[in-house]
Amino acid sequence: MSTSVKTRSGASIPCVSKSEAEAKGYISRALLNQLHLLPGGEPTAYTYIDDETVIFYFDPEKVSEAPPELWYGAKNEQMTLPSGSVIERMSVKRASGYGYYTRERLTAMNCKVIEEPVAYTLKADKTPLFFYDKRTASRLPLTCVRCGKNIRFKKKLCRECYEKDLAERRAEGDAYRAQYFGMERSKVLFFDLELTGFYDRDEIISISIVDGNDKLIMNTLVKPDHTKKWKRTEKIHGITPEMTENCPTLAELTPQIKEIFAGADNLIAYGVSTDYSHIKYIYPEEEREALHAKVRCCANEFVRYAHECHPEIEHASLIDAMSHFGIEWRGVPHSSVADTFACRDVWERIFPHYYKD
Ligand SMILES: [Zn+2]
Repeated sequence: MSTSVKTRSGASIPCVSKSEAEAKGYISRALLNQLHLLPGGEPTAYTYIDDETVIFYFDPEKVSEAPPELWYGAKNEQMTLPSGSVIERMSVKRASGYGYYTRERLTAMNCKVIEEPVAYTLKADKTPLFFYDKRTASRLPLTCVRCGKNIRFKKKLCRECYEKDLAERRAEGDAYRAQYFGMERSKVLFFDLELTGFYDRDEIISISIVDGNDKLIMNTLVKPDHTKKWKRTEKIHGITPEMTENCPTLAELTPQIKEIFAGADNLIAYGVSTDYSHIKYIYPEEEREALHAKVRCCANEFVRYAHECHPEIEHASLIDAMSHFGIEWRGVPHSSVADTFACRDVWERIFPHYYKD
């Protein structure tokens, strides 16, 4: 038994004796009900009836009249609880109008009842079914969805179940990453595109392709067909319209890109969905599915690895992955060729047995 109780708002209210409460003019719940009043706020004090149950007292200055539709439904039947409190019989509907529910309903709402019943109804067999006030029930911390016992820690699981789940996912992920894929180095291609903007209509202005041998297969700027300037992305990749002036167009490069991609088993990029959504346009619609089947995303794999093995990692950009594995830039940082090499290196760290040799 403690000497103070916390209300839902977190305020501590004092334990008082019945006579103290009366001397201060506090109104008990039972009296409020009899007078068809509703508490205007949280209880101001309480007294214990037994180890687990309390009677709450309310400040008479803060009570309000119950709406007539609530008290017109009264059955004018009462019962006296062992504590001496008199409670009224009411229908389930009227009770819920007051915010009163059965213990079962409140438990389902994740609330723990500490106050004695505030009203009752009679079941078919004439035994009483008690109602409790939701506002004075304490909110229980949410429990683990797996074991149903412990308090939640992460992902709706308790710490124990979370750790177990993480260990299972990690074992599965580790086995996946550690397997021998037997890929041909020359047929695993890493690529990166720079664009004039962030949207679908934006054009490719740079392509870099590197293979699993670390061989630079293509590294070229591309002259866009209709975009004349790209001030916003220029600051990011540093490619100016002048720089692309005498470069091949995408249409001119297409046969070469298609030939390179045709010989590849995998096409890997960091955040591949953006790159894929632009490069796919060099293929007619019916050939895109075959292209997409070869595509792998290095960022997705890093995210999975981080979730399973290093939950402390919060961000998963290419630079985050590089710094996690201690990978250095090769070439001008953030240029598409340096990004491509970095992507290749990150991939090899995630999948150490990706290649045949
Ligand atoms: Zn659990």
